[in-house]
Amino acid sequence: MMQSVDPEIEQLLILQDRDSRLYNIEQSLKTIPLELAKYQAKIAEEEAAIAAAHKELQQLEVRRKDLDNDVKSAEEQIVKYKNQQLQVKKNDEYQALTHEIELTENKVNELEEAEIGLMLEIDEGNEQFAKAKAESDERLQLFRDEIETLQDREQTLKGEIEAAKADVAKEMSACNARYLQSYERVKRRRPKPPFVSAIEDHKCGGCHLKVSSETESATRQKSEPVHCENCGRIVYWEL
Ligand SMILES: [Zn+2]
Repeated sequence: MMQSVDPEIEQLLILQDRDSRLYNIEQSLKTIPLELAKYQAKIAEEEAAIAAAHKELQQLEVRRKDLDNDVKSAEEQIVKYKNQQLQVKKNDEYQALTHEIELTENKVNELEEAEIGLMLEIDEGNEQFAKAKAESDERLQLFRDEIETLQDREQTLKGEIEAAKADVAKEMSACNARYLQSYERVKRRRPKPPFVSAIEDHKCGGCHLKVSSETESATRQKSEPVHCENCGRIVYWEL
């Protein structure tokens, strides 16, 4: 019984399988640092947003302290006016101080109202901040988990790459020299596997374009590597 596939092609297919594995490892090692950078940027963004929200709260607290000081100094002013009143002798001076006292008392009332409003704002702000912080912490944990997973994967792949290269070298040494030369030529021209494809329904399995009947019949000879005239891949007859 005739062998269904050219045995030299079969060896190239084994080599291609090892090459694909190596290619996938190398591609992953290229993309993992980009993925890591993406998650690190998300973490930085998250932390910056929380820091900004915290700063806003602190500013409210500063405003509250300022108001508090304003109230205290207005109250001190009132005490001063009252002491002055004890010393003045003229009635119009006394009246003028009474007027100042009233104005300052009104100011104190306004400041105290503003302070109450601000304290409510601070309470609400603290509540919102605590909620936002909890949500942000959850997202941060997810990002950190993703980073850890990626780093583990990177370590695993780095550990596998030498073995994958050795596998490629081993299968290369088992290839027929002429077939290997053709394979290497395709590999130099194409960025990624497959480099070897079966003909299916008169079409190259790599580029899916129809191959000529000359090409197709050449693959049936199983005596030399045949290339797809469209994409350059090595094509073979499977049945
Ligand atoms: Zn093709």
